[in-house]
Amino acid sequence: LGPTLCIGEIIVEIVATTTGDGFRHPQPLLGPFPSGAPAIFISQCGRLGGQSAMIGAVGADDFGALNLARLQSDGVDVSAVALDPEWPTGSAFVRYRADGSREFVFNINHSAATRFGWSEPVARLVARAGHLHVMGSALSMPPAREVIVRAAAMIKERGGTLSLDPNLRKELSGGPEIAELFQCLVGLCDLLLPSGAELFPAAGLDAPDTTEAQAIAHLLQRGVTEIVLKRGPNGASLFTPDSVIRAAPFQVDEVDPTGAGDCFGAAYVTCRRLGMGAEAALTYACAAGARNVTAVGPMEGAGTLAELDDFIRTTARRI
Ligand code: ADP
Repeated sequence: LGPTLCIGEIIVEIVATTTGDGFRHPQPLLGPFPSGAPAIFISQCGRLGGQSAMIGAVGADDFGALNLARLQSDGVDVSAVALDPEWPTGSAFVRYRADGSREFVFNINHSAATRFGWSEPVARLVARAGHLHVMGSALSMPPAREVIVRAAAMIKERGGTLSLDPNLRKELSGGPEIAELFQCLVGLCDLLLPSGAELFPAAGLDAPDTTEAQAIAHLLQRGVTEIVLKRGPNGASLFTPDSVIRAAPFQVDEVDPTGAGDCFGAAYVTCRRLGMGAEAALTYACAAGARNVTAVGPMEGAGTLAELDDFIRTTARRI
């Protein structure tokens, strides 16, 4: 089958412990936590026991070491994670507003995350990967973008599969050329994992004039065979050409929503690749997302398969 591959930013995240506008001074903080949407995704894949590998870069510093140690302990192949001798590991500061929404300050543009490119170890990994998961956030960084485009073409050509999470971040948004590239990837992908209103730009349609059903129909017609719509605390829905499955959310106390969508996607992809049916994979995905929001830190709530089984057995679902 070949490993599941993810490409992009590996950073640390530092979280404000107070909510509200702006950072206070001094601001009580938690972290650094290992982070970066592609890294969270692949960490959760590894924890679930799926063969998984990461392409990216970290600085030769403590933040880089922290990330590498975490990915290795999850069983992720890091042979294609470069160690940048000059530029540091990137970082993100996160704070939560009173309404629960998030504000990010990213320090990624001049970090190792933006400097890696095609290399021998990258080529070796891409040559044996069975699945590529693309994170929209990584597309805003030119070197990552080039590696993703090349890897996607090679893996699809060999009969591998592709999943795509739009993961739109206004702080990391790209120009019109990114939107065009994104649409090319939608045309190639087998599985699309938008979150809420991301469904509409993912379908290349304007929200005010389009219903959810129209956007789904358009994507299915373009050849995406599975669309999993993440609905935050309201669970998720799966759409295929011949079925719609609505998954009720697990009832949890949310303390930190960052990483939920990445863990959700990782669980769905890994369970499908381990041979599970779509409905069972959706249950594990909802469990992975819900479990992850119960811990502070983007990957601190990521569970193993046994931990998710236990979570599913012991956690009520809101119908
Ligand atoms: P993203 O982080 O990509 O925006 P979501 O916030 O929609 O993704 O979270 C992904 C999935 O995790 C949801 O579809 C849901 O199944 C689960 N989830 C997230 N937040 C909660 C929550 N507060 N309670 C229960 N499940 C949740």
